[in-house]
Amino acid sequence: MKIEKLLKRYRIEHGKHFSLKDHDPADTHGLDSELKPQAKELLADGVKELSRLQDILAAQDRWGLLLIIQAMDAAGKDGTIKHVMSGVNPQGVDVWSFKGPSAEELNHDYLWRTTKCLPERGHIGIFNRSYYEEALVVRIHPQILENEKLPKPLVTKHIWQERFEDINNFERHLTRNGIAVVKFFLHLSRKEQKRRFMERLDNPDKNWKYSSSDVKERQFWEAYQEAYEDMIRHTAKEHAPWYVVPADNKWFTRLVVAQAVVDALKGMNLKYPKVSGAEKAALAQARQQLENE
Ligand code: ATP
Ligand code: MG
Repeated sequence: MKIEKLLKRYRIEHGKHFSLKDHDPADTHGLDSELKPQAKELLADGVKELSRLQDILAAQDRWGLLLIIQAMDAAGKDGTIKHVMSGVNPQGVDVWSFKGPSAEELNHDYLWRTTKCLPERGHIGIFNRSYYEEALVVRIHPQILENEKLPKPLVTKHIWQERFEDINNFERHLTRNGIAVVKFFLHLSRKEQKRRFMERLDNPDKNWKYSSSDVKERQFWEAYQEAYEDMIRHTAKEHAPWYVVPADNKWFTRLVVAQAVVDALKGMNLKYPKVSGAEKAALAQARQQLENE
């Protein structure tokens, strides 16, 4: 299977005419479940390659990579992070989850809390939810916006457009500074979400995953889909693409995300640092010293 083709289908770089309707949450790019073992192998290959590239990313210490993961509940954010990152060196990866903001966070602009968590050079940073919630859950529940302590004259009907502009500029700034930005929307169907919630209710080992707010938010399904679509329309850019990843089949979600991360790292043309003549001489001397022990 051509991985490039696989990625292209889900990568949105020019959001303007994006429509969620064109994306099927159950899509598996023609790989049916009989080919699952092959997909597993592909995932394992992807994870291995990711690990190799991460090593160079850290050694070179110039680029950083920010991965943003957004989705409806039960779309598999946690499992995807766990599987895709299974082979990488934990010292080079930072995972951050963003829930409703704290009192301290509400005393700042909305980019403050996530900015503090940006990956340093040589690292991969993962945002499990992100500042994009500011145009999703906040857009759907006006009460949340009211709690944000913004000066009244600044809250107008243009606020979402303004937020998209600011986010675009912010991501532009990051990429111009060597922090690549790749964003994932794990696209789950309403039907599959119900199935997964039921499973959480029925299976005692999964009860802990269930939260009463899950079923509450589900009632706003349509509003969320519209907000996601509008968000992708306004913020999918060549330098900071969105991947709309089919999420009804977990094995496929993981495969696409792993390949997209590999692709982003490959795009950096990473190289181990070259050692200078003087440094080489020092290495030779150290070698000599060890041999003489
Ligand atoms: P899981 O359910 O797997 O633990 P989760 O990301 O759904 O993961 P929850 O604690 O269930 O975690 O939900 C976090 C909630 O915080 C989400 O409903 C999300 O919309 C909300 N949230 C995140 N960022 C903001 C924000 N800036 N303002 C208000 N709510 C936010
Ligand atoms: Mg949740």
